[in-house]
Formats: sequence, structure tokens, C-alpha cells
Amino acid sequence: MSASSELFTWAVRSDVGRVREINQDSASAAPHLFVVADGMGGHRGGEVASAVAVEAMARNVVDVTTIDGLIDGVRQANAEVIERAAADPDLAGMGTTLCVVGLLEADWRGGTRLGLVNVGDSRIYRFADDQLEQLSDDHSLVASLVREGHLTAEEAARHPQRNVVTRALGITDDVEIDYWELPARRGEQFLLCSDGLVDEVNDNQIAAAFRRLVDPGEVVDELVRLANEAGARDNVTVLIVRVDAGGDGPIEQVPPASTHAATGAAERPADPGVIEPLDTRDDPAAVERDGPGDTAASRGRIVGLLTAKVLVPVGVVVAILLGAIALIGSYARNNYFVGFDQDQVVVYQGRPDGVLWFDPTIEDQSALLRDDLTPALELEVEANPEFDDIDVANGYIDQLAVRLAEAGDPAE
Ligand code: MN
Repeated sequence: MSASSELFTWAVRSDVGRVREINQDSASAAPHLFVVADGMGGHRGGEVASAVAVEAMARNVVDVTTIDGLIDGVRQANAEVIERAAADPDLAGMGTTLCVVGLLEADWRGGTRLGLVNVGDSRIYRFADDQLEQLSDDHSLVASLVREGHLTAEEAARHPQRNVVTRALGITDDVEIDYWELPARRGEQFLLCSDGLVDEVNDNQIAAAFRRLVDPGEVVDELVRLANEAGARDNVTVLIVRVDAGGDGPIEQVPPASTHAATGAAERPADPGVIEPLDTRDDPAAVERDGPGDTAASRGRIVGLLTAKVLVPVGVVVAILLGAIALIGSYARNNYFVGFDQDQVVVYQGRPDGVLWFDPTIEDQSALLRDDLTPALELEVEANPEFDDIDVANGYIDQLAVRLAEAGDPAE
């Protein structure tokens, strides 16, 4: 079910998924403006926040615009979410992500140009020249950890706190907005999606769907189907826009995400035909103005770490990071297991495979050697049995000796 204009063909679908009872995502598509939002906040908050933001964009960005026009639209949407939350105690603390692809006024050569904006952890991808590329940066706790080298992308994708976002609409008047401006190229496709898609369907699967299917409507249906097949623990929203008219030049490379975040990049001259680096509106410190007294927790934004999206203002990210590291550290260290060190049976503190940068350490050594064990007991020790307490771990080793004696001491 695709719709089309002179310039674009698009399709959009939002699905509640297989676990949630309500859909807190919202999306809209008009010939000049494509929007996906993922709301958060208890009670009705998330639903309302995403709907208010999407409606505000549609109402305030009524036609082809400029990148500043798009950014003003996002600011207006942000103000409306804040205003709505202030007017209804049931909606206090609500927020929403927002990602947008909009049609911009033609450049001086009459070329078709697109504006992209993003706040939060919904994503904008581009599929062009048979390659899928994530253009937006996730404003999330795990993305921060990946950027700092503490997590790999794969670990982040499975991280229990991957729903913690660091930016959203509805929190502060000075919301930071990432944006890009780029020339439209015939044949390229943009995917806007909520995290419910990428939690279940990886980039390779998404790219494969684009390669396999022609029509944006078919790709949208397939991606929603794949997310549901994988369990769809969150709401899934997928919007695809294909550029049917525009330039025919080569697709330009987007600089790596780590270089996007540099503020001041917008001062580089706009080079027609080249994607301009991401810039960030506003001083990042502005978001911290609320201070720690106005944190996510105190405003009731933390609503169940495992399932719901959670918002943490930038000002408390450092505290959360430190807290998370302390938690992870205590998880990593508050455990013992028995295993081999070379051929000696020893007690380790930690987790058998380590956790992040916490590697297991040897806490106690025993007189037992690998050669003393029966093949069955050797396998048992290789499996690294785990214990809460070092005395229990040592007790297990004592028991090994007893069991060996019962087994008839085959080593001698
Ligand atoms: Mn979500």
C-alpha cells in the first residue's frame, strides 16, 4: 500500500507489536513531510506525546520549507508537548522521540533537497546503491557507551538498558536537534523507524528486505512482519520514502557518526551535492539547566527499565553511567566460580566470561590438579560452576575430592 507524488513513493505502518497493549508510536506522511515519533511516559503519556508532536509537525510545516523551517517545526512541537503535559497531571513527564524527512526549497540550481532532523533513538536510514546506512545518531545511553568504547554495537543491541534515551521532546525548551540537509538522488530510499523495529530486526535483515522487494509498501510490510516474528516486544513503526525524481549523481558518503556530533560543523561551506555534516542546535549544556533536582526519576519518567522507553536528561547521564558501571561492576564481581588455571583447580571471583572490562581473578587455589579428576568431573569443572560465596565454592572443591575418592581414584 504505497502512496506517491511527483517526487516520492512512500508507505507507513505502525504496529502495536506482540507484548504491549497500546501503541505509543505515531507517524504521518504527507507529500512534503514524513514523521515518526515514539512516545514515553506512564499512563496515556507516551501515546499523547507522540501524537501531539506528529500533529504539530503536520500543522506547522504545511509546505516545502527550509531546514530552519523544519527545525522551527520541531521546536514548536516540543513546546506543544510541554504545554500539553503541563495542562494535565496524568500526562506529566511524558516525552517523545521525533525523526523527520522533509522536502526543502530547491537550491539555486533547482535541485531537489531534503532536510532530516532527529531527536531521540528513533532512526533514519538511507538505502542507496544497494547499501543500508544509518544516518541518525541514537541519543541513548547505550549509544553513549558505544561511542566511548565501553560497549560494542552488538552488546548495545542486547543491553537491558537500551531503552534509556538521553534526548526527547517534552523535557526542556532548549531541546537539542540534530539535522542534515542533502540533495535528493533518484532511487534512494529513506527508512524512518522506532526502536521497536531495530530491537528485533538487524541492519542486515533490513538491507536484505530492501534488496528483495521493490515497492516501499512491500518492504514496510515485510519489516513489520519480521519484527513480529522476532517477538515485537515494543511498538513497531516503519516509514519508507523513495525518491522517484531528483538528481542522478552518485550517492555521497555520509561521514562516520562520531564526526557528526561536532558542533560548529555547520560553519563549513555548503558544498552543493555533498551531504552536510550533522550539526547540533543549541549549546548542549543548556539541557542541563534543570539540574539534578529535576531528573528523570523525580519527574516519574522511569517507567520500567525492560519494556518501556525511558528518558534521562543529559544532565544526569553521567550519574546514570556511573551508577550503571557500579551496578555492572557489582554484578561482575559478586560471584565466584570454580575452574582451571592451567591445570590447577581454583576459585575465581567474577563471571566466567567476564563482564565488560571486569575480568575474573583467582581468589583461592586448591591442591587438585586436572590429572586427578575423572573425565566426568573434569567436564564439570570445565563448565565453571558458579557460587554466591567463596566458602561455598571452596566447599564444592572439597566435595570434588570426596567424590573422587568414592569414584575409586582412577589416577593412581
Ligand atoms: Mn519504542
